Amino acid sequence: MKDLIGNKTVAEKLSRLVEAGRLPNALLFAGPEGIGKKLFAFEVARLLVCTRREGSSACGLCSACKRAGELAMPKFEKGEESEQVFFTQHPDVGIVVPYKRNLRINSIRALEREAYFRPYESSARVFVIEDAEKMNDAASNALLKTLEEPPATTHLILIASREDTLLPTIRSRCQTIRFAPVPLADLERHLIDSCSFSPEDAALAARVSGGSVGRAMDIVPASFRNQRSAMLHVLSAAIKGNRRELLGASEEMNSAANKDEYEETLEILQGLVHDVWLIRNRANEVAILNTDIRNELAELAESSTSQSLAGWLEQIESLKENFIVNINKKIATDALFVGMAA
Ligand SMILES: [Zn+2]
Repeated sequence: MKDLIGNKTVAEKLSRLVEAGRLPNALLFAGPEGIGKKLFAFEVARLLVCTRREGSSACGLCSACKRAGELAMPKFEKGEESEQVFFTQHPDVGIVVPYKRNLRINSIRALEREAYFRPYESSARVFVIEDAEKMNDAASNALLKTLEEPPATTHLILIASREDTLLPTIRSRCQTIRFAPVPLADLERHLIDSCSFSPEDAALAARVSGGSVGRAMDIVPASFRNQRSAMLHVLSAAIKGNRRELLGASEEMNSAANKDEYEETLEILQGLVHDVWLIRNRANEVAILNTDIRNELAELAESSTSQSLAGWLEQIESLKENFIVNINKKIATDALFVGMAA
């Protein structure tokens, strides 16, 4: 637990429970999005499978620790591909994840089957259930069966940012552990100490991730800056009404080389438009994400109108909503950008 950030009392409590061999078989990690609940869950898993545990800490060095921290998630083309337990390199540590807005019943059924197996090489099996609030009633009821009588060696950790939307019967079978947001300064320190970020990159990543620990750690500062400067260009072309440049940018964004970062790039654009809107409206300065380029943003704010900025935010939002159904991203981006130039 020593490499985790924030929520010290939670870390201490979990370590104590593991050390005493009293960790409940069903846990619910509740609290706002992006504060490291999943990182904590995997740390608990490591603590349980570590072969050289020292008191209440996983050693972090043994083969079990290392493998339990390695998870390669595939990108899903279809929802069916999400209907399984995804294991880390350790056969006793796995996760089920939602596909878009649903944690599918077949994922829970797959979990149920795995939950009844004895551990392969450790003394426990740990399963993380990501975004547990995305289960519908049928999936919840399927999980209930497993929660009622889990084998003593199986631990389930449900992660939820909106625990109120979980069925009460689910909540009552779990011990709830509540997480609090991580202060920005602590997140920066963590990025510098544990992820080798420069202080400047740490400040940037902490801010643009909106304080989300997981997202901040995933940011690659150099490529973030590249994507951002491309989107700054889009914003400035939109303000000037330059359609040709915008269509070129859409082409670029959908090119094979950049396809995988598409959604991330769109998020960055949304953040920039929102920042310019905040500056334009002299609104809440502390909410500005891209503080390091505030001057450039202020220039764009000068030449834009708050009405068009608000309109663009709405259009980007509705494009993001449409990701749920299968859309042609190239056509959708063309439409968005041309719409922005109108
Ligand atoms: Zn270990």
